[in-house]
Amino acid sequence: MSDAIVPLAGVVGTSVGHSRSPRLHRHWLVQQGLAGDYVPLHVGDDDLPQVIRTLPKMGFVGVNVTIPHKVAVMRIADQISDRAILIGAANMLTFRDDGSVYADNTDGHGFLANLRDHAPDWSAQDGPAVVLGAGGAARAIVSALLDAGVPEIHVVNRTRPKAEALRAEFGSRIRVSDWVKAGNLLEDAALVVNSTSLGMAGASEFRVPLDGLQAGTVVADLVYTPLETQLLRTARAAGCIPVDGLGMLIHQAVPAFERWFGTRPTIDEATRAAIFP
Ligand code: NAP
Repeated sequence: MSDAIVPLAGVVGTSVGHSRSPRLHRHWLVQQGLAGDYVPLHVGDDDLPQVIRTLPKMGFVGVNVTIPHKVAVMRIADQISDRAILIGAANMLTFRDDGSVYADNTDGHGFLANLRDHAPDWSAQDGPAVVLGAGGAARAIVSALLDAGVPEIHVVNRTRPKAEALRAEFGSRIRVSDWVKAGNLLEDAALVVNSTSLGMAGASEFRVPLDGLQAGTVVADLVYTPLETQLLRTARAAGCIPVDGLGMLIHQAVPAFERWFGTRPTIDEATRAAIFP
């Protein structure tokens, strides 16, 4: 930890005003009886390298990284974890005592931990997964699902070349389909994941046809504003097992909090309530 009397952390992005992460980390700081704070940091592209180099000098022990900087911080970090290299993006930076910047990615861990919480009967061997989207979050999820042993992952993205890039990098267990055919893949899926921003408050509506959803399929949405998206509402009505994005947000934050502030926080109902009072 740096010499700061009060260790600071934060989230760096261009649209962090409504981020729920400050509430989450502040809740844990109180829960653990620790001094410290966690703040939203609005940082534009041009300022990113200088800001990252300056934050440790101001008492910051680390930051989360969000849209649009998850890839750019990889060029700034001095060391990068193997999983962040594999994913091609980082969602957290730790500022080490020797002044170096360490980049890691905990999104895949957060996704799987949340899945185990809310769909405990799901197993990687249950069958194919369908992942909608091919952005930074999708890359973390695909990597985690492959590690977990999912036999086949259909990746569908509005911009098809980005899905094809995933196949080129992650191998033959990835299948790429056209965005307009996404609805056809749902019938045989054991797990469906929305990793696009569709359905988020202020973004476009989720318009993929959902008639193919089968009862018992696990349907996870990364979007957590609103907590119950239209996708999850439809999935629940079809007898699927809905998994909201808030749990992933909480779980991906656990290793970051532990690394920065030195203790592992507890997840309970009070944690969710602190984020959505
Ligand atoms: P990103 O890298 O910018 O990727 C955005 C994805 O959404 C791309 O696949 C993009 O498709 C797709 N998309 C955007 N607008 C679309 C539209 N109108 N129609 C179809 N597809 C559209 O962002 P990200 O980091 O992967 O994040 C994606 C979502 O996951 C965001 O909502 C983010 O808040 C959420 N997220 C949640 C958590 C959590 O803890 N719950 C963690 C990480 C991310 P194109 O490639 O065609 O543009």
